[in-house]
Amino acid sequence: MEMNIETSRIPDPFSRKVWEPADAEEAMMIKRQYGADAVFVAGGTLLRTQWEGGIVNRPEHFIRLDTIADLCGIHESDQHIYIGALTRLRECGADAYIAYHGATLYESCRHIAAPSIRNQATIGGNIASAVGDAIPALLVHNASLHWADIGSEVTTIEQDLGDWLEIVKSGRKSMNAVLLGINLEKQNRLLATESIEQSVDHQQEITFFRKIGRREAFTPSLVTVAFRAKIDPLGYFSQVRIAAGGGSGIAMRLSTCEQLLEGNRYQADMITSLARLASDEFITYSDPFASEQYRQQTAGNLLAAGLWETIHAQIERR
Ligand SMILES: Cc1cc2nc3c(=O)[nH]c(=O)nc-3n(C[C@H](O)[C@H](O)[C@H](O)COP(=O)(O)OP(=O)(O)OC[C@H]3O[C@@H](n4cnc5c(N)ncnc54)[C@H](O)[C@@H]3O)c2cc1C
Repeated sequence: MEMNIETSRIPDPFSRKVWEPADAEEAMMIKRQYGADAVFVAGGTLLRTQWEGGIVNRPEHFIRLDTIADLCGIHESDQHIYIGALTRLRECGADAYIAYHGATLYESCRHIAAPSIRNQATIGGNIASAVGDAIPALLVHNASLHWADIGSEVTTIEQDLGDWLEIVKSGRKSMNAVLLGINLEKQNRLLATESIEQSVDHQQEITFFRKIGRREAFTPSLVTVAFRAKIDPLGYFSQVRIAAGGGSGIAMRLSTCEQLLEGNRYQADMITSLARLASDEFITYSDPFASEQYRQQTAGNLLAAGLWETIHAQIERR
């Protein structure tokens, strides 16, 4: 019997080209040349699910970013913690500097996907996707992004994360830019000269990160919230930063919620007001799994519960 084998129903995996640029400039030049036919690949964990799910087409050209030197690692300066874009989530969720200065980021990185994914996935890929769970956490740490971009010449810019998210929302995101790294604002340390007695008056930083998904892991989150503030021994809040995001929505700061707390003393009825305000302020979306209203209420409840738990844990420690 003669077998009639049809040729090329199955796409030939070897027809695709994998580029291994030595630096960001080379990566951007390849991207500019092939446009939508090329994609930057960091850990490839999100891209893989998008290709497998048919959400985006697999392009002809893969531009590896892990071949570029200096995009990995966590460094400390006087004011900032700098995280290279190719640093793996596992490393971010195990780093002592990030745990101290970027507590909500540290928590978020420990709650993204499963350990096997975190070994491969990068912080830069999480941010560049514009919907990663690390983004609300980074918003409360006043993070800025370091980009290399290519127009008539190569430029590097530092951009506030919130400003970049606005650009994403408006559809004006540069398609050729490479994220080089992230700067996190350091938490103020006690001055070395300060005595223990003086430090009793010192404000303490309180933070929390909460995430709700349809399952414990392996699914995109429904809602993610992050909170960071200073609180003094009398219970007055300052430098309050609150953000919400999750799923495929663009994360945002909740400035009305921040104003509710800023400069005011903690009282139990703040909890219900925070839940209501967050639900009103959070701009999100509906999909077959959860309505917009459900996500809004969930964000409010997560913030209210997180604040209550954090404050009460602090009172018990005293
Ligand atoms: C099973 C599973 C569960 C997951 N669960 C979660 C979850 O709970 N929360 C969550 O947030 N994510 C989750 N993800 C998605 C993904 O793992 C993370 O977002 C991860 O951080 C993406 O990083 P990556 O390096 O793999 O990015 P990639 O997949 O390589 O890239 C993602 C996007 O960013 C672009 N990109 C990557 N790096 C750069 C750069 N330096 N400069 C410019 N563009 C860049 C790529 O072109 C691509 O568009 C999950 C994925 C899987 C497979």
